[in-house]
Order: sequence, then C-alpha cells, then structure tokens
Amino acid sequence: MGEIIRAVAGNDFIKIAIAEARDIVERARQIHSLSPTSSAALGRTLCAASMLGNMLKEEDASVTLRINGGGPIGTVMAVADFCGNVRGYVERPQTDLPLRSDGKLNVGAAVGTDGLLTVSRDLGLREPYVGSTRLVSGEIAEDLTAYFAESEQVGAACGLGVLVDTDLSIKAAGGFIVQLLPGAPEEIIARLENNIFYMDQLTTILDEDGIETVIEQVLKDLSPRILERSKISYKCYCSRQRVSDALVSIGKDALVEMAQDGKGAKTSCQFCDLEYNFTSAELLELAEAQCETRALEE
Ligand code: ZN
Repeated sequence: MGEIIRAVAGNDFIKIAIAEARDIVERARQIHSLSPTSSAALGRTLCAASMLGNMLKEEDASVTLRINGGGPIGTVMAVADFCGNVRGYVERPQTDLPLRSDGKLNVGAAVGTDGLLTVSRDLGLREPYVGSTRLVSGEIAEDLTAYFAESEQVGAACGLGVLVDTDLSIKAAGGFIVQLLPGAPEEIIARLENNIFYMDQLTTILDEDGIETVIEQVLKDLSPRILERSKISYKCYCSRQRVSDALVSIGKDALVEMAQDGKGAKTSCQFCDLEYNFTSAELLELAEAQCETRALEE
C-alpha cells in the first residue's frame, strides 16, 4: 500500500499532491524484473501518473502517462485510475546505465530527450483529452513541470524520486506535484520556490521521516491544510475477457496456427504477472468468434 495526500496552502493559491509509493514501485520491480535504472524511470512515472489520477474528479476516469525519449529504455508507460491506483511497464526493463558523476541513477540518459511526454485523460467521453510536450531532460519531474507550463498553462513544480537499496529492492519512492493558481502573489511563489530549493532530498525524507515531513518542508510557513488522504496500490484491471479480445484481434489465421500444435497458448498481461492459458480448442473457438463478429459487421 502507498498513500497520496492532497492539500492546499498559501491562502489556497497552492494545490499540492504528495505520494508515498515504495510498495507500488517494489511491486513493479518484481513483476517486470526491473534493473535499478528502470526501477527509477518506471517508478517516477508510476508516482506521477498516480498523483495525476488522484486529481481527477470523475469516477471511472483514468489517466495514461507515456514517455518516449528515444533512449535505450524505450517507452515508459503508466496508467492510473481516479483514486491513484496505478500500473505500468517499460519497454526494455533490463536496461541499466552506469551511475552519474553525482552518484544518482542516470534516468535522463536511459529515457532520452528525443521525443514526447504525453498525458491522456480518459473521462468517459467519446475522445480522451490528450496533451503532450517535448522532453526537456528525460528525468521525468522536469519534463512534467514543462508539460504543465506548456500544455496546460499551469505554474507547477514537481519532485519525483526512487531510492534503490543495495540488494536492488526499493527503499523509498514517491513524489509531489505543486500547482499555483492564477494570480498567486509574488511572496507566496518566492516562499514556495525557496522551500523547494532548501528541502532535504525527497527520498531521504520519505525513507527516514515519512510523507508528513514532505508537506512540512515544501509548504513551510505557508499554512498547509490537508484535504484528502487516499490509500493507493499497484492495481491491474486485466481479465480473461480482455486477453480473449486481444487474441481475437490477431486474426483467424494466426489463431488457427497457434492451435495447430495442440498445446494451447499461454499469454501474460503486459502490466502484471498474471498468465492466461488457452487450450487449442478455446483458440479455435476464438477464431470462429472472430468470423462471426466480422460477419455481423459486414
Ligand atoms: Zn494484468
């Protein structure tokens, strides 16, 4: 379990979401066998998506955060529901790079900067609301800050962090997104910037003191008021039906071919470690089902 706290501060000109997500990132690491660099890249993306999801007001709404910078790690993707429960994957989870000269994991080089950060909000309407911005550093927090400024015209500051332990498990993970409402007075903005500049390292606070201390430091002297606390977890919504639909979409010929050796097929979900088994007879049924759907469409 993890937690998101949402609060306001600075005479309500500041909105903030803070996430503690160690267990979520550790779960992702186990599902995808992530390298340390991939743990950091996917972990930061999971934390960001979780907070973006938690900010949605519509029930059943979801948000997808996709980062594709052309780096060796490939696409990093996370999907969150409106509570902040989240799931995700990275295209090449074994990618690992040497540490940077300051001793930090080199997420920027793994993700790359030749591409986009895309936020897609599905509010249950016909079309999702999609915005994107060019990647600035591939470090994800900076890229998300740029996204808010360019695509949503919102002054924002983001911090995201994943601390990997010596045994490669996740020691701490979390983040914050601060948004400024239009017309925020200069002294409030200056105070906030100063707090963020002088705060301790995010993962150190989460590891040693916890989520409350992040609020205390980021919103120091800004009279924070907590609005809501939500429990969050790594949660996948896959089902046998969804996997069946995906199999049907590969086409009748491919399904018949899969059924030919009589061994059936084992398909795993791309977001979690669940495996779905289909016997050859079931594969042939799906092949027939596809013919029926096509006949109905014609
Ligand atoms: Zn799944």
